[in-house]
Amino acid sequence: MEERNVVIIGTGPAGLTAAIYSARAGLAPLVIEGLQAGGQLTITTDVENFPGFPEGITGPELMDNLRKQAERFGTEYISGMVDRVDFSQRPFRLWVGDREFLAKTVIISTGASARMLGLESEKKLMGRGVSACATCDGFFFRDKEILVVGGGDTAMEEAIFLTRFGKRVRVVHRRDELRASKIMQDRAMANEKIEFIWNAVIDEILAGETGSVRGALLRDTKTDERYEVACDGIFMAIGHRPNTKIFQGQLELDEQGYIPTRNTKTSLPGVFACGDVQDKVYRQAITAAGTGCMAAIEAERLLESEGH
Ligand code: NDP
Repeated sequence: MEERNVVIIGTGPAGLTAAIYSARAGLAPLVIEGLQAGGQLTITTDVENFPGFPEGITGPELMDNLRKQAERFGTEYISGMVDRVDFSQRPFRLWVGDREFLAKTVIISTGASARMLGLESEKKLMGRGVSACATCDGFFFRDKEILVVGGGDTAMEEAIFLTRFGKRVRVVHRRDELRASKIMQDRAMANEKIEFIWNAVIDEILAGETGSVRGALLRDTKTDERYEVACDGIFMAIGHRPNTKIFQGQLELDEQGYIPTRNTKTSLPGVFACGDVQDKVYRQAITAAGTGCMAAIEAERLLESEGH
C-alpha cells in the first residue's frame, strides 16, 4: 500500500490552505473531504472579512477557489469520512470505510460544529435569519430585532457584537442565571441595547411570507407557557463541538475535546492540527487558513529532517 507524505483530514480553510502549501512543497497531499466538503463556510452566505475580497465573496465560492488552488499544485481529493485512525505507530493508519490509507504525517483540520437546537425549522431557516456566527452574519441585521440563544461567554460576546447592528438584542436563556464569566455578564448587562428573556427555550422558529425568520415561539421553562416574540434574526450561541471523536485515545485532547497544539504540533510527533479543531478563541476563516499554512510548513520540515 502506498504511503502518503501528508494526509489532510477536512476541507475547511485550514485543511485547504495546508493542502496548497504542502502541494506546492511537492508533497502530493491527499485530502479526505468529509461529509460537509468546504466546512462551516459553506453554510454562511457572504464572507466579507476574508482579506483580499473587497466586494466580499460567498462562502461556497471561497471554498471552491481554495479547492481549485490546491488542486492546481497536485492535491488529490477523496470524499468520505475518516471513521477510524490508528496513530499508535508510524506510518499512521486511517480508514475511510474499508479503504485504508498510510501516512507519514497527518494534518487534522476537522473543524468544529456549532451546536444547534435540533429543530426542523432551524435547519430550514439557516441563512435566512438563523445563524451561528455573529461575526459572519451580524452585518445583515442592521436596525433589526435580534435574538441570541445561550447564556455562556459566546452568547454574551455575540450579543454585544450584534448591538453594533441590531435595533435591539434579546438574549434567550434557559435558566435565570448566566454561565458566562462575570466580566462578560457585566458588559452585557450594562449595554442598553441588550435585554434578557430568562427561563426560556425556543420551541419553534417562525417563518414569514418571504421565507425568512419573522419570530420565535418560546416556552417558559418554569411554567411551560408558550408565547411568541417577533424578530428578524436568531443567533445560536449554545457552544461548539470540536470534531475529534475519532481521535479519542489516539492523541491528547483537552476536557472539551479540542486538540491542544504548539505551533500546530499535537502531542504526537507527525500529527499536526490546524483550524477550529484546535482553536476555541478566534474561529475565523483567516486564522484557520493561517494555522493551515503553519501545519503544512511544520509537516514539511519534519519530513525533511527525517530525510524523506
Ligand atoms: P458554554 O458551554 O460555556 O455555554 C453554552 C450556553 O448555551 C450555556 O449557557 C447553556 O445553558 C446554553 N445551552 C446549551 N445547550 C442548550 C440548548 N440545547 N438550549 C438552550 N441553551 C443551551 O459555551 P460557549 O460557547 O459560550 O463557551 C465555550 C468556551 O469558550 C467557554 O470556556 C468560554 O468561557 C470560552 N469563551 C470565552 C470567551 C471570552 O473569554 N471572551 C468568548 C467565547 C467563549 P446552561 O448555562 O443552562 O448550561
